[in-house]
Amino acid sequence: MRENERFDVVCVGAGAVGLLVAHDLADRGAKVALLDQGMTGREASWAGAGIIPPAFIDHAKTPYARLRAVSFERFGALAAEILNNTGIDIGYRRTGGIEIARTDEERNILVDARPARHALGVSVESLAQDQLRELEPGLAATEAEWLPEMCQIRNPRLLMGLAVRCRQLGVTILEHTPVVDFVSHTNKINAVRTKNGNLLEGDHFVVTAGAWSGELLKRVGQNVPIHPVQGQIIVYETSGNDAHHIILEGKRYLVPRDDGLLLVGATEEEIGFAKQVTDDALESLRAFACELFPSLTHRKVRHAWAGLRPGNKLGHPIIGPLPNWKNLWLATGHFRHGLQQSPGTARLIADWITKHRSFAEPEDFAIDTPAEFFASEFQS
Ligand SMILES: Cc1cc2nc3c(=O)[nH]c(=O)nc-3n(C[C@H](O)[C@H](O)[C@H](O)COP(=O)(O)OP(=O)(O)OC[C@H]3O[C@@H](n4cnc5c(N)ncnc54)[C@H](O)[C@@H]3O)c2cc1C
Repeated sequence: MRENERFDVVCVGAGAVGLLVAHDLADRGAKVALLDQGMTGREASWAGAGIIPPAFIDHAKTPYARLRAVSFERFGALAAEILNNTGIDIGYRRTGGIEIARTDEERNILVDARPARHALGVSVESLAQDQLRELEPGLAATEAEWLPEMCQIRNPRLLMGLAVRCRQLGVTILEHTPVVDFVSHTNKINAVRTKNGNLLEGDHFVVTAGAWSGELLKRVGQNVPIHPVQGQIIVYETSGNDAHHIILEGKRYLVPRDDGLLLVGATEEEIGFAKQVTDDALESLRAFACELFPSLTHRKVRHAWAGLRPGNKLGHPIIGPLPNWKNLWLATGHFRHGLQQSPGTARLIADWITKHRSFAEPEDFAIDTPAEFFASEFQS
């Protein structure tokens, strides 16, 4: 970076959301700087399971449905762009999902989810026992629904691929560069101040700092209700013959990778910003996995990790300009859905900053948009 270099857009936080915002803006010719307090893509976006549930724009009637659909429909093109330009395969696969119910409560959840899924054009099929056995011979469950369009990505590869692609598009990525404050005049931000005292000037500033966004925005007098919600995951080493599809039960799931790794997640814990892998979580995830796939009892857990989701009491992601500021934008609070919704989120921010019409309006995802507006969509 040259001394006194000025940017069109300065983006704070290089997770999936920040990388994609930087990517989309740079792709339109903007001069972008992307800063992270640590390494690129090593927080929630790295820790996630990479489940990408389907949604289709032809069916999407609400802004939130369009966010999901635009995101889902972009993944194929993004995977191809990253592979063709960087050689990195982000592991975008249509694995298909099987959602099981073992209790009345879970049965009701499946029934309740149907209208929202139909509204997004998603195929859902109830499975007879022999169909279920054919799809997943090792699964100890009898009631399930089949979601053939459900996809997955491998998060570390997506993030690495995006970082390389961003650099190719001219984005200046500054790692180990925490932003500690903003320099402003009246209601306009002129620069961010980094921990070592440097100023980075720009025309627009986008906060994509995940779970840390609320803390940072206190510096400009904004009370943005984002808080960290820890999630832990364990990973089995398998020969690829245990689970073949994404298996979902309530908030827990198993995700099989091409190379035989099998992710089992995830916990939901509100314990502040301290990330920790615990024996209790490991045991409960292991018990869950072995109940569903008894063949896992003798398999080895190879890794366990934790990440901090950007939790959000509003019940919807916050995407758009911050009230009272002319050039300060926010894109965060996606909670459990930040990977799947990052391509649509980036498209919105890039469209609005470059003054193009988009598939939603800034007020659709504003801090004061009531949760009821999103009804049950946020969780489905
Ligand atoms: C266990 C687990 C499983 C998940 N599974 C899925 C899934 O299957 N599908 C899905 O869609 N989502 C999933 N999620 C949720 C998803 O990971 C998050 O919603 C998403 O990653 C949020 O992305 P982000 O870019 O906003 O945040 P992050 O990836 O956390 O990125 C924020 C970045 O900002 C940086 N930063 C923070 N403060 C500053 C500062 N002051 N200065 C500079 N940089 C700063 C951080 O270092 C970090 O790199 C899961 C999450 C977890 C933890």
